[in-house]
Amino acid sequence: MTKEVDLNKVVRQHAEMESFFTGFAIKGKSDTPAPAPKPSPAEIADAGKELEAIAGEVRQCRKCDLGSLRTNAVPGEGSPRARIMFIGEAPGADEDAQGRPFVGRAGQLLDKIIAACGLKREEVFIGNILKCRPPDNRDPRPDEIVSCLPYLQKQIEIIAPEVIVALGAHAARTLLDTNKPIGQLRGQFQEYCAGIGQPPIKLMATYHTAYLLRSYTPENRRRVWEDMKKVLAELDLPIPERGRS
Ligand code: URA
Repeated sequence: MTKEVDLNKVVRQHAEMESFFTGFAIKGKSDTPAPAPKPSPAEIADAGKELEAIAGEVRQCRKCDLGSLRTNAVPGEGSPRARIMFIGEAPGADEDAQGRPFVGRAGQLLDKIIAACGLKREEVFIGNILKCRPPDNRDPRPDEIVSCLPYLQKQIEIIAPEVIVALGAHAARTLLDTNKPIGQLRGQFQEYCAGIGQPPIKLMATYHTAYLLRSYTPENRRRVWEDMKKVLAELDLPIPERGRS
């Protein structure tokens, strides 16, 4: 069944998206704290190779039915030494067509949010709970999550980010192993447990950008921006202020 697209709504959202998540100025950049110690080029290259090996496995994967339905698997992409990992639910039609995460409208909004944080897309890692598109963008099924999650867990282990941003209820609930609603999970740091003996990783749940596009209210935009400001503060990164300077 094809859905009618309300072009006026799309154009209005796009204009609002442009103006809300742009026009930030990083104030006081000169007295920003010293950055975290940088990994050596050899360490980065090794992590990059390990991530590539996982991406290769994902592209061959037939552990669930989605493997035979996909055009392309979407392993995820970004820096092997990203300080932040953004994790969504599952690829949509655009991502399935290109084999890259968050490249459709929800991805464009995520790009704006990343840029509003003063970051570049290549500096972070962007992935999903499921690596293949569920038909008609239906919710991930528990058996699919069980089959696919080990790939993401391995990616998290290799990258060892300081913060995970879980986009939407599916990502947040899966990574936190809870059924709580996103409204209760977002807004304060939670902990992602990587396994026995491994240090927990701070996790900020926030609204999925696809939801934000559907409910593009000032209140929801403010909530997402508040969540991201907490992430930036946790990483000692400068917090851009809204407004053009
Ligand atoms: N929504 C997701 O959850 N992931 C994508 O990669 C794109 C849209």
